[in-house]
Amino acid sequence: MAMEIIRKSDADRTEATLTEAVRESFTWDTARDMLDGLPGGGLNIAYEALDRHVAAGHGGQTALIWFGKAGERREFSYAELTAQTARFANLLKDHGLEPGDRLYALSERVPELYVAALGTLKAGMIFTPLFSAFGPDPIRMRMEIGEATALVTTESIYRRKIAKWRDEIPSLKLVLILGDEAPEGCVALGPAMAVASDTFEVVATQPEDPALIHFTSGTTGRPKGAVHVHQAVVMHVAAGRYALELTPGTRYWCTADPGWVTGTSFGIISPLVNRVTMIVDEADFDTDRWYGLLQNEKIEVWYTAPTAIRMMMRAGKAAAAPYDFSTLRFMASVGEPLNPEAVIWGNDVFGRPFHDNWWQTETGGIMIANTRAMDIHPGSMGKPLPGIEAGIVDHGKDGVRACKPGEIGELALRPGWPSMMREYLHEPARYDKCFVDGWYLSGDLAMRDKDGYFWFVGRADDLIKSSGHLIGPFEVESALIEHPAVAEAAAIGLPDETAGEVVKAYVALNPGFEPSEQLEREIRGLARKKLGPAVAPREVVFRNTLPKTRSGKIMRRLLKARELGLPEGDISTLESDET
Ligand code: ATP
Ligand code: MG
Repeated sequence: MAMEIIRKSDADRTEATLTEAVRESFTWDTARDMLDGLPGGGLNIAYEALDRHVAAGHGGQTALIWFGKAGERREFSYAELTAQTARFANLLKDHGLEPGDRLYALSERVPELYVAALGTLKAGMIFTPLFSAFGPDPIRMRMEIGEATALVTTESIYRRKIAKWRDEIPSLKLVLILGDEAPEGCVALGPAMAVASDTFEVVATQPEDPALIHFTSGTTGRPKGAVHVHQAVVMHVAAGRYALELTPGTRYWCTADPGWVTGTSFGIISPLVNRVTMIVDEADFDTDRWYGLLQNEKIEVWYTAPTAIRMMMRAGKAAAAPYDFSTLRFMASVGEPLNPEAVIWGNDVFGRPFHDNWWQTETGGIMIANTRAMDIHPGSMGKPLPGIEAGIVDHGKDGVRACKPGEIGELALRPGWPSMMREYLHEPARYDKCFVDGWYLSGDLAMRDKDGYFWFVGRADDLIKSSGHLIGPFEVESALIEHPAVAEAAAIGLPDETAGEVVKAYVALNPGFEPSEQLEREIRGLARKKLGPAVAPREVVFRNTLPKTRSGKIMRRLLKARELGLPEGDISTLESDET
């Protein structure tokens, strides 16, 4: 995996001074000082994201630039979003909802979704976004777990996925429908917003009051409902500043949907508390559309995910050549291991490498990151943020042991940062299992090198043990992707009488390549050369797509279950599939 280090230029170091400044003087208190708190006391995420900027005279600044699927473009200033969210909060109150109630959102990335998120928080209610593409059962299950009180959705989603069982969710009091008309028993959002007052005294929530419920991606099993509190905003402001270089006025694009934690923490809250101008695109990934957006909107900071990056790589460098990316100063990636190949590719095409960072729904914010003030070791997730203590540990009957540099163990964090989840809804035992001997255990395996960089190895469940070797799927997949024909890869371990387990890989090919026995041999040959015979896959299977969650994570457990004829488990978040 050792690829050439990308040394930081002096210019980058200097330009990234703001993050350096934060680094040098960083404590949670400094991060807290970047916030105002409510004028009458209390802390509310929505006030920090919107109202305080207006109070400080920045109401005219553009907060949100929205692109519709059909190409329409709308801008919203901080003052406008402040007023809209006040209307939304009033509307909830007028309908008898109260602080602590839970509002679910189920819509595409339209401006109302963003207004609903912050309006809900203003009203002291808890916001829970779901992917609008979820089917009826995953929606229902999540609404039952979180005892939804209100729902914002579209008429089409309501009729297709919810109407049938709506009455069976006794907690559900209010269904708001985007637009001017609503089916019986629902309220149309347009007219209701028009009559609601645009001034609202933000509810004085306390730092430990719940603000968000986020369901995990379901990559490893049944999703968990992680609860986050208002003071998570301390982490959102700090991590946005430190790991994403968000400063007032930055033109920023986070490509994640709010149905995934990244799209809320770093697609709504962190950018707005840092007073950026953020871009939201309603449409899904499309190479030309994305390149056009980066160029025409003069994006400076871009936060995306490995799946999208690999799709761009699949489209080839020529697709990017006509565009001008000169305004881009920082690109980051999260959600899945970022193959070294992808880091280098970014450097070639955009003139800058992608900066990988690591976190989870549970951590509420970025924990480990590469910044411009560091040299980049392609394939590494970077180093812990200031104030975050991360370790690599081994835990068994005798408690927890710290691993040596270079040794693989579980990635663990010392609890105490502001955006840590406070519970898994209704699952205290699952929650308690995450904490051992003063550590939070992430469920991921990783390694720390002697310079303090962290390297992702795989999910604890995905580790492959073959002939005495511990094999991380990421290592195998990264080697496979180095073959010019391979766009995407997944590696799993299958039981084997002599070796314990052997590696099997699934690959999707780049355009212009056809599956053949010869290509399979060639890919396996390359892997053997890079990884050695014990680690290289015994078999490589061609697929058009690999099974992924809605947040773009490869579901290796599903490939394995199918291979072994075992039950598929919870596949409520499965997006693309092909058996
Ligand atoms: P579930 O917990 O339900 O199985 P999930 O873990 O995929 O789903 P998320 O919280 O959305 O749900 O994802 C966090 C996980 O994503 C991390 O634990 C890690 O496995 C993976 N991940 C995130 N960022 C990175 C990264 N930079 N490199 C490698 N893996 C990453
Ligand atoms: Mg997880």
